[in-house]
Amino acid sequence: MSESLAQRLCQIIGERNVLTGESIGEHYRIDISRKYKSQPAILVKPQTTAEVSEIVRLAAAESMPITVIGGQSGTVGSAVPVDGGLAMSLERMNRVIEIDQLSMTMTVEAGCILQIAQETAELEGTLLPLDLGSRGSATIGGVIGTNAGGNRVLRWGMMRDMVIGLEAVLADGTIISSLTKMLKDNAGYNWKHLLIGSEGTLAIVTRAVLRLRPLPTSRQTALVATASFEQAITVLRRLELELSGRLSSFELMWSNFFEAMTQAQLPQRPRPMALGHAFYIIVEAMGGDAEYDLARFEQVLMAMIEENVTVDAVIAQSEREREAIWAVREDLSPGLTPLRPFASYDVSMGVGDMPAFVSKAETNMARDFPGAKMLFYGHAGDGNLHAIVSTGTLDADIQHGFDAAIFDAVRDVGGSIAAEHGIGIARAGFLSWTRSPSELALMSVLKDAIDPRHILNPGKIINVAG
Ligand SMILES: Cc1cc2nc3c(=O)[nH]c(=O)nc-3n(C[C@H](O)[C@H](O)[C@H](O)COP(=O)(O)OP(=O)(O)OC[C@H]3O[C@@H](n4cnc5c(N)ncnc54)[C@H](O)[C@@H]3O)c2cc1C
Repeated sequence: MSESLAQRLCQIIGERNVLTGESIGEHYRIDISRKYKSQPAILVKPQTTAEVSEIVRLAAAESMPITVIGGQSGTVGSAVPVDGGLAMSLERMNRVIEIDQLSMTMTVEAGCILQIAQETAELEGTLLPLDLGSRGSATIGGVIGTNAGGNRVLRWGMMRDMVIGLEAVLADGTIISSLTKMLKDNAGYNWKHLLIGSEGTLAIVTRAVLRLRPLPTSRQTALVATASFEQAITVLRRLELELSGRLSSFELMWSNFFEAMTQAQLPQRPRPMALGHAFYIIVEAMGGDAEYDLARFEQVLMAMIEENVTVDAVIAQSEREREAIWAVREDLSPGLTPLRPFASYDVSMGVGDMPAFVSKAETNMARDFPGAKMLFYGHAGDGNLHAIVSTGTLDADIQHGFDAAIFDAVRDVGGSIAAEHGIGIARAGFLSWTRSPSELALMSVLKDAIDPRHILNPGKIINVAG
């Protein structure tokens, strides 16, 4: 970094918003996986899109790699800055600019924390449907950058489905803006979809217009058990049909995951259901008529018990009981601590291919790592599974062996190595396992066209040197 670059950055955004070397806190240099750490030369905290643009223009002139970081809640190293590069935090661009009740849109800056955007929407009687366990730290820019999914994709889709308008800064500092409130816009290529999920490698998102929904006034949550995977999917399809589109979450847990999490949580709360069933599922529905919705929810679940589709069901009768049910899936720290160090996966496939995937992954692991512990759970209604793998030790070779065992099983069923969390650094070497040469070639063409000098977040997704 030249002295003049730091000085010029200070002139643009003020000295206190330009940090260098050791003064850059760890939070900006490492993501939640804690597997990759770097030492960027400089950290900037702009407050306006114009400032972002000017910073990018200056850094690009010095061929300085730029990594935009959000809440660092990503798990694949995608927001870990390049050593010696420039890290950009949008934490000062954190405003909800407008909620438009008529168009049902929210205009928000990219540095806004997801939970704050959710709560602001709720205060206005609207719902921003995206919801994830990391809601308290993930930012709007980050969830757009990764095309995040979460607990309610089944009903409202991924982040891509909620972004109506976008403003971003390209690799040469150009501001590209389409902050519209229209759901329909087929006037030419839809560039915003190219940027969504591109992990900061094509542009820096600065503002977005998000689609809101009417805030549901009723919420029903249950923990359901089944004796087989097929029965679990019958529960999914029955609830989709018989709740008339109100099903919003379907979180499937294999029995060993349920046992490990609830056992570790016992000091905090009792187990919400007995052990011994093959599958446990958190199901949640949301609607607009509390009395009718609850009665219908109970009726459908009771019918499935009577027909032996499910073997047990517990319906939350209070907010406390709802939290206790969700805690099995979200309060993972106590249950995962004894497995540390572990590797975690976020893969997807056709829902019907899940048993074949799990079986192949277990076979591969038993062959390569006898005695390894594996837990499976996930947003199964969307074809998304998480796997936790542990042998008690983890180094680069073991990690690579785990990756190969899991991704081989994914490839076997025609799935994807990255359902939600993206590719980042961690998965870049495996992208070709589920993407064809022609797809990879097209990705390279797009990267070269939009960021010809590979200034934006180099080394992520497409592992090509800058
Ligand atoms: C407990 C927990 C639960 C999680 N659950 C889910 C889940 O259910 N579903 C899911 O999808 N993910 C989940 N995640 C992963 C993570 O929270 C998401 O990937 C989230 O989208 C990251 O947001 P962030 O602000 O922390 O982004 P960061 O981790 O800081 O960055 C992620 C990527 O986005 C890019 N980026 C950040 N800001 C911008 C911007 N302004 N413009 C362009 N690119 C940008 C970064 O460069 C990086 O490539 C979970 C993580 C945790 C820790």
